[in-house]
Amino acid sequence: MLHVPRLEDVSHGVQPFECPFCFGIVQAKRQHSWRKHVLSDLRAYVCISPDCDAGLFEDKTVWQAHDAECHQRQWSCNQCRLGPFSSAESLRNHLRSSHEVDDLPEDVVAKMVDASSHAVPEAAPDCPFCDFESDVRREATSGGQDLSSSAQIVIPLVDYHRHLAFHQEQLALFAIPPAIERNLDSESNHDRDKVDHQEHVQVCAVLPTFVMRYVYEL
Ligand SMILES: [Zn+2]
Ligand SMILES: [Zn+2]
Ligand SMILES: [Zn+2]
Ligand SMILES: [Zn+2]
Repeated sequence: MLHVPRLEDVSHGVQPFECPFCFGIVQAKRQHSWRKHVLSDLRAYVCISPDCDAGLFEDKTVWQAHDAECHQRQWSCNQCRLGPFSSAESLRNHLRSSHEVDDLPEDVVAKMVDASSHAVPEAAPDCPFCDFESDVRREATSGGQDLSSSAQIVIPLVDYHRHLAFHQEQLALFAIPPAIERNLDSESNHDRDKVDHQEHVQVCAVLPTFVMRYVYEL
């Protein structure tokens, strides 16, 4: 597992200090806030929804809110209760074909669509980085749950976000330029770095190409 460089290796005990990533002057008293700062510099989080061009996020909570708000929603028709539809577009198509909304102004239709959506607190464990669904399924089965192979599995959205965040943070840390790593006092971390390197390679091997693109854009 990759880690954010240790605060004391970067600050050398001096506060505030120059951040080797953004060259800003940073005040970070704890590893936790330093970690958050580094991940923000690396713009670690990316919306993985297909067809979404929101791109990279500096802040985990902003990315999570974006995903929940824009992608983890369902739409049901308020006119006939049909649904749920998985996208605004499919509800819009339904309104057009079944409720003759073509004569209504576009902003009225948009309001109808908006008013017909609700947040979903759960997500399917689809992960572009690993076989998360099989893991969840195996865990549920070994915990005594009887799942047929066609049963649809969902997990709490917070768990889904935590899982994706882990991969994304690892990818972002993987992209830290080696020159920065070398400049840090890594003597004491030498053995740990060697182990980490093998994990870098493993993480790298499973990267889908679109994520690689984002990594190299950093
Ligand atoms: Zn910085
Ligand atoms: Zn998005
Ligand atoms: Zn309807
Ligand atoms: Zn995963």
